[in-house]
Amino acid sequence: MNIMQCTFCKKPFQSLGGRICPACMEQIDKDFVTVRDYIYEHKHSNIDRISKETEVSKQIIMHLLKEGRLIIDSPDGDGLLLCEMCRKPINTGRLCKDCTGKVASSMDKNVSDNKKPEPKAEVPNIKGSAKING
Ligand SMILES: [Zn+2]
Ligand SMILES: [Zn+2]
Repeated sequence: MNIMQCTFCKKPFQSLGGRICPACMEQIDKDFVTVRDYIYEHKHSNIDRISKETEVSKQIIMHLLKEGRLIIDSPDGDGLLLCEMCRKPINTGRLCKDCTGKVASSMDKNVSDNKKPEPKAEVPNIKGSAKING
């Protein structure tokens, strides 16, 4: 069992692989519903206003955006989230559409590049077992 520090409340907890403690997970799930409903009614909102009106911390909203669970439909992305590759503002996830495409196609390349002819290993033909004794 790994002891991890929760990303949100900074308390140590027993992790099964995640970085968020069960208490925060529960809170995030509740907040997710709150924020999702808020965004549903206020499509062109921004993170500051959402945080103020819903009383959900910005950190949690950002987390949900990065996970792709929330999408803020603002025209310029409000500079909330930036593509991790080209730093273009995005509304959800970690990469913009262009970079997602690039990553996907470079992965395809790697797969096809993998077909290298393997040199035949020559197995020395040893007949019998020689006794080497000094
Ligand atoms: Zn926590
Ligand atoms: Zn990008």
